[in-house]
Amino acid sequence: MKYHIVTFGCQQNQADSERIASFYRARGYAPARSRKQADDIIINTCMIRQSAEDRIYGLVHNLSIEKLAGRKLKIVVTGCMVGMAAREKTGRMLSQLRRRMPAVDEFLPIEEVGFDYAPVRTGPQHAWVPVSNGCNNFCTFCVVPFTRGREVSRPIEDILDECRTLTGNGSTHITLLGQNVNSYGADLVLGADRIQVMRDLPGKTYFENAYSRNPRSPNGQGVQLSGITGSQNKKADTDGREITPVYVRHLGRLRIPTLFPHLLNEVCRIDGIISVDFLSSNPWDFTDGLISVIANNPKILRHIHLPVQAGDNEVLRRMNRWYTREDYLVLVGKLKSKIPGLTLSTDIIVGFCGETEQQFRQTVSLCRRVGFTKAYISMYSDRPMTAAHKAFADTVSREEKKRRWAYLDELVNKTNLRRGTYR
Ligand code: SF4
Repeated sequence: MKYHIVTFGCQQNQADSERIASFYRARGYAPARSRKQADDIIINTCMIRQSAEDRIYGLVHNLSIEKLAGRKLKIVVTGCMVGMAAREKTGRMLSQLRRRMPAVDEFLPIEEVGFDYAPVRTGPQHAWVPVSNGCNNFCTFCVVPFTRGREVSRPIEDILDECRTLTGNGSTHITLLGQNVNSYGADLVLGADRIQVMRDLPGKTYFENAYSRNPRSPNGQGVQLSGITGSQNKKADTDGREITPVYVRHLGRLRIPTLFPHLLNEVCRIDGIISVDFLSSNPWDFTDGLISVIANNPKILRHIHLPVQAGDNEVLRRMNRWYTREDYLVLVGKLKSKIPGLTLSTDIIVGFCGETEQQFRQTVSLCRRVGFTKAYISMYSDRPMTAAHKAFADTVSREEKKRRWAYLDELVNKTNLRRGTYR
Protein backbone atom coordinates (compact mmCIF):
# COMPACT_ATOMS: atom_id res chain seq x y z
CA MET A 1 0.00 0.00 0.00
CA LYS A 2 1.27 3.44 -0.91
CA TYR A 3 0.51 6.90 0.48
CA HIS A 4 0.89 10.42 -0.89
CA ILE A 5 0.58 13.61 1.17
CA VAL A 6 -0.51 16.96 -0.26
CA THR A 7 0.38 19.81 2.08
CA PHE A 8 -1.20 23.25 2.07
CA GLY A 9 -0.14 26.20 4.22
CA CYS A 10 2.70 27.05 6.54
CA GLN A 11 5.90 25.37 7.75
CA GLN A 12 4.00 24.00 10.73
CA ASN A 13 1.84 22.05 8.30
CA GLN A 14 4.97 20.84 6.50
CA ALA A 15 6.34 19.59 9.82
CA ASP A 16 3.00 17.91 10.56
CA SER A 17 3.14 16.18 7.18
CA GLU A 18 6.53 14.72 8.11
CA ARG A 19 4.86 13.19 11.17
CA ILE A 20 1.91 11.98 9.10
CA ALA A 21 4.42 10.22 6.80
CA SER A 22 5.93 8.34 9.72
CA PHE A 23 2.43 7.54 11.00
CA TYR A 24 1.70 5.84 7.66
CA ARG A 25 5.07 4.09 7.43
CA ALA A 26 4.50 2.63 10.89
CA ARG A 27 1.36 1.04 9.43
CA GLY A 28 3.33 -0.62 6.66
CA TYR A 29 2.71 1.95 3.91
CA ALA A 30 5.41 3.09 1.49
CA PRO A 31 5.57 6.54 -0.13
CA ALA A 32 4.07 6.70 -3.64
CA ARG A 33 6.18 8.27 -6.38
CA SER A 34 3.25 10.42 -7.41
CA ARG A 35 -0.35 11.09 -6.54
CA LYS A 36 -1.47 8.80 -9.36
CA GLN A 37 0.21 5.77 -7.77
CA ALA A 38 -1.14 6.24 -4.27
CA ASP A 39 -3.72 4.06 -2.53
CA ASP A 40 -4.24 6.69 0.17
CA ILE A 41 -4.05 10.42 -0.48
CA ILE A 42 -3.76 12.54 2.64
CA ILE A 43 -4.62 16.22 2.28
CA ASN A 44 -3.12 18.38 5.02
CA THR A 45 -5.33 21.46 4.94
CA CYS A 46 -4.95 25.17 5.67
CA MET A 47 -7.72 27.65 6.43
CA ILE A 48 -5.74 30.82 6.76
CA ARG A 49 -7.30 32.27 3.58
CA GLN A 50 -10.34 31.52 1.47
CA SER A 51 -8.10 30.87 -1.55
CA ALA A 52 -6.34 27.98 0.27
CA GLU A 53 -9.71 26.47 1.20
CA ASP A 54 -10.96 26.76 -2.38
CA ARG A 55 -7.91 24.90 -3.69
CA ILE A 56 -8.57 22.06 -1.24
CA TYR A 57 -12.21 21.73 -2.35
CA GLY A 58 -10.99 21.75 -5.97
CA LEU A 59 -8.48 18.96 -5.29
CA VAL A 60 -11.04 16.78 -3.50
CA HIS A 61 -13.48 17.36 -6.34
CA ASN A 62 -10.92 16.19 -8.93
CA LEU A 63 -10.07 13.11 -6.85
CA SER A 64 -13.74 12.29 -6.43
CA ILE A 65 -14.11 12.24 -10.23
CA GLU A 66 -11.26 9.69 -10.39
CA LYS A 67 -13.03 7.61 -7.73
CA LEU A 68 -16.28 7.73 -9.68
CA ALA A 69 -14.38 6.58 -12.76
CA GLY A 70 -13.39 3.45 -10.84
CA ARG A 71 -10.05 4.31 -9.21
CA LYS A 72 -9.56 2.57 -5.85
CA LEU A 73 -8.51 5.37 -3.59
CA LYS A 74 -8.85 6.42 0.01
CA ILE A 75 -9.03 10.17 0.60
CA VAL A 76 -8.03 11.37 4.05
CA VAL A 77 -8.41 15.02 5.06
CA THR A 78 -6.47 16.34 8.04
CA GLY A 79 -4.94 19.61 9.29
CA CYS A 80 -6.61 22.92 10.06
CA MET A 81 -10.01 22.24 8.48
CA VAL A 82 -10.48 19.12 10.57
CA GLY A 83 -9.00 20.80 13.65
CA MET A 84 -11.54 23.58 13.46
CA ALA A 85 -14.44 21.19 12.84
CA ALA A 86 -13.36 18.94 15.72
CA ARG A 87 -13.32 21.93 18.09
CA GLU A 88 -16.72 23.20 17.04
CA LYS A 89 -18.91 21.66 19.72
CA THR A 90 -22.23 21.39 17.86
CA GLY A 91 -20.72 19.10 15.19
CA ARG A 92 -22.30 21.31 12.51
CA MET A 93 -18.99 22.14 10.88
CA LEU A 94 -17.98 18.50 10.57
CA SER A 95 -21.37 17.70 9.00
CA GLN A 96 -20.85 20.57 6.56
CA LEU A 97 -17.43 19.22 5.58
CA ARG A 98 -18.92 15.75 5.06
CA ARG A 99 -21.69 17.19 2.89
CA ARG A 100 -19.31 19.36 0.91
CA MET A 101 -16.74 16.58 0.35
CA PRO A 102 -18.68 13.28 0.27
CA ALA A 103 -15.79 11.50 -1.45
CA VAL A 104 -13.58 11.90 1.64
CA ASP A 105 -13.21 8.60 3.50
CA GLU A 106 -11.69 9.89 6.73
CA PHE A 107 -11.36 13.20 8.58
CA LEU A 108 -8.24 12.74 10.72
CA PRO A 109 -7.54 15.18 13.59
CA ILE A 110 -3.81 15.90 13.61
CA GLU A 111 -3.71 15.23 17.37
CA GLU A 112 -4.27 11.54 16.58
CA VAL A 113 -0.93 11.48 14.77
CA GLY A 114 0.96 12.67 17.87
CA PHE A 115 4.72 12.89 18.41
CA ASP A 116 5.44 9.21 19.05
CA TYR A 117 7.19 8.47 15.75
CA ALA A 118 10.29 10.21 14.44
CA PRO A 119 9.14 12.41 11.53
CA VAL A 120 10.18 11.42 7.99
CA ARG A 121 12.45 14.31 7.03
CA THR A 122 12.38 15.54 3.49
CA GLY A 123 15.70 17.41 3.61
CA PRO A 124 19.01 15.73 4.46
CA GLN A 125 20.53 18.52 6.54
CA HIS A 126 17.68 20.71 7.58
CA ALA A 127 14.89 19.72 9.98
CA TRP A 128 11.76 21.44 11.26
CA VAL A 129 11.24 20.73 14.95
CA PRO A 130 7.84 21.73 16.38
CA VAL A 131 8.17 23.00 19.94
CA SER A 132 4.56 23.97 20.51
CA ASN A 133 1.20 23.77 18.82
CA GLY A 134 -1.72 26.18 18.85
CA CYS A 135 -1.98 29.78 19.90
CA ASN A 136 -3.55 31.82 22.70
CA ASN A 137 -3.29 35.23 21.14
CA PHE A 138 -6.54 35.59 19.22
CA CYS A 139 -5.48 38.17 16.67
CA THR A 140 -8.88 39.17 15.33
CA PHE A 141 -8.16 38.09 11.74
CA CYS A 142 -6.68 34.67 12.52
CA VAL A 143 -8.23 31.19 12.59
CA VAL A 144 -5.26 29.43 14.16
CA PRO A 145 -6.60 29.44 17.77
CA PHE A 146 -9.72 27.73 16.35
CA THR A 147 -8.02 25.32 13.95
CA ARG A 148 -5.15 24.28 16.22
CA GLY A 149 -6.54 25.13 19.62
CA ARG A 150 -4.72 26.63 22.57
CA GLU A 151 -0.98 26.65 22.84
CA VAL A 152 0.52 23.41 24.12
CA SER A 153 4.29 23.14 24.53
CA ARG A 154 6.19 19.91 24.09
CA PRO A 155 8.31 18.83 27.06
CA ILE A 156 11.75 20.35 26.73
CA GLU A 157 13.57 17.01 26.98
CA ASP A 158 11.48 15.56 24.13
CA ILE A 159 12.55 18.44 21.92
CA LEU A 160 16.21 18.09 22.89
CA ASP A 161 16.08 14.29 22.37
CA GLU A 162 14.62 14.84 18.91
CA CYS A 163 17.37 17.34 18.05
CA ARG A 164 20.06 14.91 19.25
CA THR A 165 18.58 12.11 17.13
CA LEU A 166 18.47 14.45 14.15
CA THR A 167 22.14 15.34 14.43
CA GLY A 168 22.92 11.63 14.69
CA ASN A 169 21.11 11.22 11.35
CA GLY A 170 23.04 14.03 9.68
CA SER A 171 20.91 17.12 10.26
CA THR A 172 22.96 20.19 10.97
CA HIS A 173 20.41 22.96 10.71
CA ILE A 174 17.33 23.09 12.96
CA THR A 175 14.32 25.36 12.69
CA LEU A 176 12.25 25.46 15.88
CA LEU A 177 8.59 25.89 15.03
CA GLY A 178 5.59 27.27 16.86
CA GLN A 179 2.73 29.60 15.99
CA ASN A 180 4.06 31.87 18.69
CA VAL A 181 7.41 30.20 19.16
CA ASN A 182 8.84 32.69 21.63
CA SER A 183 6.07 32.11 24.17
CA TYR A 184 7.20 28.48 24.39
CA GLY A 185 6.81 26.96 27.83
CA ALA A 186 4.26 29.29 29.43
CA ASP A 187 1.87 26.37 29.82
CA LEU A 188 4.67 24.21 31.26
CA VAL A 189 5.36 26.80 33.91
CA LEU A 190 1.80 27.77 34.78
CA GLY A 191 -0.29 24.81 33.70
CA ALA A 192 -2.44 24.93 30.56
CA ASP A 193 -5.55 25.91 32.50
CA ARG A 194 -3.98 29.18 33.65
CA ILE A 195 -2.94 30.36 30.23
CA GLN A 196 -6.40 31.41 29.11
CA VAL A 197 -6.96 33.94 31.83
CA MET A 198 -3.51 35.38 32.20
CA ARG A 199 -3.97 38.39 30.02
CA ASP A 200 -6.86 39.60 32.21
CA LEU A 201 -5.21 39.19 35.56
CA PRO A 202 -3.73 42.14 37.39
CA GLY A 203 0.03 41.80 37.76
CA LYS A 204 0.01 40.90 41.44
CA THR A 205 -2.54 38.10 41.16
CA TYR A 206 -0.80 36.81 38.13
CA PHE A 207 2.54 36.67 39.83
CA GLU A 208 1.08 34.82 42.83
CA ASN A 209 -0.69 32.36 40.58
CA ALA A 210 2.46 31.69 38.66
CA TYR A 211 4.34 30.61 41.73
CA SER A 212 1.60 28.95 43.70
CA ARG A 213 1.85 26.23 41.03
CA ASN A 214 5.46 25.81 41.84
CA PRO A 215 6.21 25.31 45.52
CA ARG A 216 9.90 24.79 44.82
CA SER A 217 10.37 28.41 43.90
CA PRO A 218 8.53 30.40 46.55
CA ASN A 219 10.77 33.39 46.04
CA GLY A 220 9.94 33.65 42.37
CA GLN A 221 13.57 33.31 41.36
CA GLY A 222 13.24 30.26 39.21
CA VAL A 223 11.27 27.12 38.45
CA GLN A 224 12.35 23.56 38.46
CA LEU A 225 11.08 22.02 35.28
CA SER A 226 10.94 18.51 36.68
CA GLY A 227 8.61 19.75 39.39
CA ILE A 228 6.11 21.52 37.18
CA THR A 229 5.56 19.36 34.18
CA GLY A 230 3.62 16.63 35.94
CA SER A 231 3.89 12.88 35.98
CA GLN A 232 2.79 12.45 32.34
CA ASN A 233 5.84 14.40 31.24
CA LYS A 234 8.57 12.40 32.93
CA LYS A 235 10.90 13.00 30.02
CA ALA A 236 10.94 16.67 30.88
CA ASP A 237 13.14 16.00 33.90
CA THR A 238 16.25 18.09 33.43
CA ASP A 239 18.46 16.57 36.12
CA GLY A 240 17.09 18.97 38.69
CA ARG A 241 18.68 22.00 37.07
CA GLU A 242 16.96 25.28 37.76
CA ILE A 243 15.47 27.03 34.77
CA THR A 244 14.49 30.63 35.18
CA PRO A 245 11.61 31.60 32.94
CA VAL A 246 11.87 34.94 31.24
CA TYR A 247 8.81 37.04 32.03
CA VAL A 248 7.27 38.98 29.20
CA ARG A 249 6.19 42.46 30.08
CA HIS A 250 3.13 43.89 28.42
CA LEU A 251 1.43 47.18 29.21
CA GLY A 252 3.48 47.51 32.36
CA ARG A 253 2.76 44.08 33.77
CA LEU A 254 4.26 40.67 33.50
CA ARG A 255 2.34 38.67 30.92
CA ILE A 256 3.73 35.18 30.58
CA PRO A 257 6.82 33.27 31.59
CA THR A 258 8.57 31.90 28.53
CA LEU A 259 11.22 29.19 28.50
CA PHE A 260 12.14 29.87 24.89
CA PRO A 261 15.49 31.60 25.53
CA HIS A 262 16.52 28.62 27.65
CA LEU A 263 15.36 26.12 25.01
CA LEU A 264 17.26 27.98 22.31
CA ASN A 265 20.44 27.91 24.36
CA GLU A 266 20.07 24.19 25.06
CA VAL A 267 19.50 23.34 21.38
CA CYS A 268 22.61 25.31 20.44
CA ARG A 269 24.66 23.32 22.96
CA ILE A 270 24.02 20.06 21.11
CA ASP A 271 27.14 18.84 19.28
CA GLY A 272 26.68 18.57 15.55
CA ILE A 273 24.19 21.39 15.23
CA ILE A 274 25.72 24.12 13.11
CA SER A 275 22.84 26.57 12.88
CA VAL A 276 19.48 27.21 14.50
CA ASP A 277 16.60 29.52 13.71
CA PHE A 278 12.95 29.78 14.71
CA LEU A 279 9.51 30.61 13.34
CA SER A 280 7.30 32.55 14.02
CA SER A 281 8.16 34.89 16.81
CA ASN A 282 5.86 37.68 17.87
CA PRO A 283 6.98 41.14 18.94
CA TRP A 284 5.18 41.07 22.29
CA ASP A 285 7.13 38.04 23.53
CA PHE A 286 10.52 39.21 22.27
CA THR A 287 12.22 39.82 25.59
CA ASP A 288 15.61 41.36 26.28
CA GLY A 289 16.59 37.91 27.56
CA LEU A 290 15.86 36.40 24.16
CA ILE A 291 17.78 39.16 22.38
CA SER A 292 20.84 38.55 24.52
CA VAL A 293 20.69 34.76 23.95
CA ILE A 294 20.72 35.41 20.19
CA ALA A 295 23.42 38.08 20.44
CA ASN A 296 25.68 35.77 22.44
CA ASN A 297 25.18 32.67 20.34
CA PRO A 298 26.75 32.59 16.88
CA LYS A 299 24.91 29.36 15.99
CA ILE A 300 21.62 31.28 15.83
CA LEU A 301 21.04 32.70 12.36
CA ARG A 302 21.24 36.47 11.98
CA HIS A 303 17.87 36.62 10.33
CA ILE A 304 14.60 36.89 12.25
CA HIS A 305 11.06 36.67 10.96
CA LEU A 306 9.08 39.18 13.01
CA PRO A 307 5.47 39.60 11.85
CA VAL A 308 4.23 43.19 12.14
CA GLN A 309 0.93 42.81 10.19
CA ALA A 310 0.32 46.60 10.01
CA GLY A 311 2.11 49.86 10.70
CA ASP A 312 -0.82 51.87 11.99
CA ASN A 313 -1.77 51.86 15.67
CA GLU A 314 -5.52 51.90 15.14
CA VAL A 315 -5.31 48.96 12.72
CA LEU A 316 -3.03 47.09 15.13
CA ARG A 317 -5.53 47.69 17.92
CA ARG A 318 -8.39 46.32 15.85
CA MET A 319 -6.24 43.34 14.91
CA ASN A 320 -5.68 42.73 18.65
CA ARG A 321 -1.93 42.89 18.15
CA TRP A 322 -0.52 43.91 21.52
CA TYR A 323 2.03 46.48 20.43
CA THR A 324 2.10 49.84 18.81
CA ARG A 325 4.06 50.94 15.79
CA GLU A 326 6.43 52.70 18.22
CA ASP A 327 6.92 49.51 20.32
CA TYR A 328 7.76 47.57 17.18
CA LEU A 329 10.30 50.17 16.04
CA VAL A 330 11.93 50.27 19.49
CA LEU A 331 12.25 46.46 19.36
CA VAL A 332 13.79 46.63 15.89
CA GLY A 333 16.22 49.26 17.12
CA LYS A 334 17.28 47.03 20.03
CA LEU A 335 17.66 43.98 17.79
CA LYS A 336 19.75 45.86 15.25
CA SER A 337 22.01 47.45 17.84
CA LYS A 338 22.57 44.24 19.86
CA ILE A 339 22.89 41.83 16.92
CA PRO A 340 25.18 43.26 14.24
CA GLY A 341 24.36 42.16 10.70
CA LEU A 342 20.78 41.18 11.57
CA THR A 343 18.19 41.11 8.79
CA LEU A 344 14.43 41.00 9.28
CA SER A 345 11.48 39.65 7.36
CA THR A 346 7.83 40.08 8.23
CA ASP A 347 4.15 39.28 7.58
CA ILE A 348 1.78 42.05 6.55
CA ILE A 349 -1.95 42.07 5.91
CA VAL A 350 -3.23 44.74 3.53
CA GLY A 351 -6.85 45.82 3.35
CA PHE A 352 -7.80 44.79 6.88
CA CYS A 353 -11.36 45.81 7.79
CA GLY A 354 -11.69 49.59 7.57
CA GLU A 355 -8.01 50.23 6.68
CA THR A 356 -7.86 53.70 5.14
CA GLU A 357 -5.32 54.90 2.60
CA GLN A 358 -3.63 56.93 5.32
CA GLN A 359 -3.40 53.87 7.60
CA PHE A 360 -1.95 51.84 4.74
CA ARG A 361 0.63 54.62 4.24
CA GLN A 362 1.71 54.08 7.85
CA THR A 363 2.53 50.47 6.97
CA VAL A 364 4.49 51.69 3.96
CA SER A 365 6.48 54.12 6.08
CA LEU A 366 7.20 51.46 8.71
CA CYS A 367 8.54 49.16 5.99
CA ARG A 368 10.81 51.94 4.74
CA ARG A 369 12.12 52.57 8.23
CA VAL A 370 12.81 48.93 9.12
CA GLY A 371 14.21 47.82 5.76
CA PHE A 372 12.78 44.29 5.70
CA THR A 373 14.56 41.88 3.37
CA LYS A 374 11.29 40.11 2.66
CA ALA A 375 7.60 40.61 3.44
CA TYR A 376 4.98 37.89 3.14
CA ILE A 377 2.07 40.08 2.19
CA SER A 378 -1.50 38.87 2.14
CA MET A 379 -4.76 40.52 1.26
CA TYR A 380 -7.21 40.39 4.17
CA SER A 381 -9.59 37.47 3.84
CA ASP A 382 -12.66 37.20 6.07
CA ARG A 383 -12.51 33.94 8.06
CA PRO A 384 -15.36 32.28 9.93
CA MET A 385 -15.26 32.23 13.75
CA THR A 386 -12.73 35.03 14.02
CA ALA A 387 -13.47 38.20 15.99
CA ALA A 388 -12.96 40.33 12.88
CA HIS A 389 -15.60 38.28 11.07
CA LYS A 390 -18.05 38.96 13.90
CA ALA A 391 -17.17 42.56 14.72
CA PHE A 392 -15.97 44.34 11.57
CA ALA A 393 -17.10 44.75 8.00
CA ASP A 394 -14.68 43.72 5.25
CA THR A 395 -14.86 47.20 3.70
CA VAL A 396 -11.80 47.40 1.46
CA SER A 397 -12.57 46.34 -2.09
CA ARG A 398 -10.74 43.49 -3.77
CA GLU A 399 -9.24 45.90 -6.33
CA GLU A 400 -7.94 48.19 -3.61
CA LYS A 401 -6.44 45.25 -1.69
CA LYS A 402 -4.70 44.16 -4.87
CA ARG A 403 -3.33 47.67 -5.44
CA ARG A 404 -1.99 47.88 -1.88
CA TRP A 405 -0.52 44.38 -2.16
CA ALA A 406 1.27 45.22 -5.43
CA TYR A 407 2.57 48.52 -4.04
CA LEU A 408 4.10 46.92 -0.95
CA ASP A 409 5.40 43.91 -2.85
CA GLU A 410 7.21 46.23 -5.25
CA LEU A 411 8.55 48.34 -2.40
CA VAL A 412 9.76 45.56 -0.07
CA ASN A 413 10.33 42.51 -2.22
CA LYS A 414 11.51 44.04 -5.47
CA THR A 415 13.30 47.20 -4.35
CA ASN A 416 16.38 47.04 -2.20
CA LEU A 417 15.12 48.16 1.20
CA ARG A 418 17.71 46.12 3.03
CA ARG A 419 19.43 48.86 4.96
CA GLY A 420 16.28 50.61 6.07
CA THR A 421 16.44 54.00 7.70
CA TYR A 422 15.85 52.87 11.27
CA ARG A 423 18.76 53.38 13.64
S1 SF4 B 1 -0.14 35.13 17.05
FE1 SF4 B 1 -2.02 35.90 16.07
S2 SF4 B 1 -1.59 35.60 13.85
FE2 SF4 B 1 -0.14 34.32 14.94
S3 SF4 B 1 -1.12 32.30 15.09
FE3 SF4 B 1 -1.61 33.40 16.98
S4 SF4 B 1 -3.60 34.37 16.60
FE4 SF4 B 1 -2.74 33.79 14.60
